[in-house]
Amino acid sequence: MVDWRQIADQALLYWQEFITWFLALPIYSQVFVIMAAVGVIILSVVIVYYTLKGVAYLVYYILKGVYLLLKGIFTGLYKLFEEIYYEVSGKPKPIKESSDKECYGQSEAPQQSYEEQEIIKPMQKEIQIVQPNAVFCSECGSQYTERMIEQLSENGTAYCVFCGKGYKSIKVEVEQY
Ligand SMILES: [Zn+2]
Repeated sequence: MVDWRQIADQALLYWQEFITWFLALPIYSQVFVIMAAVGVIILSVVIVYYTLKGVAYLVYYILKGVYLLLKGIFTGLYKLFEEIYYEVSGKPKPIKESSDKECYGQSEAPQQSYEEQEIIKPMQKEIQIVQPNAVFCSECGSQYTERMIEQLSENGTAYCVFCGKGYKSIKVEVEQY
């Protein structure tokens, strides 16, 4: 059993010794000691804050990673079963026009099918979010063509015709998240 009373007595003794030492100091040293103590307290608060924040971020990213992993697994399983289903049933797979849309950029609505998202995904690192009224490519510096601006405001995404850099307008970003 821990003897709290004894520990408290001990602490009090140390405290009294500290006070005696402190009062014996010249006034400048006293001020310095107080400032140092305040500094240490602030520093430890800051350290605790950032440590907690770091831990929170870590937990957040781990959870997000797990979520994305599970999502990926389930999407993969779904696609696999879909594949098996069409294979077994002998039904022709429904043809999606999205690949055509992607090629000619002719889509009217910003409706994104699963395939379109897949095409865009590997390029996401290259994509920069821009205002729809931005006019110059940040990669190669060439001016947007009318076609690109049109696509950007209609679909929310466009690719530089000169260097292939992807762009996303903020409008779509807001809608998606
Ligand atoms: Zn460019």
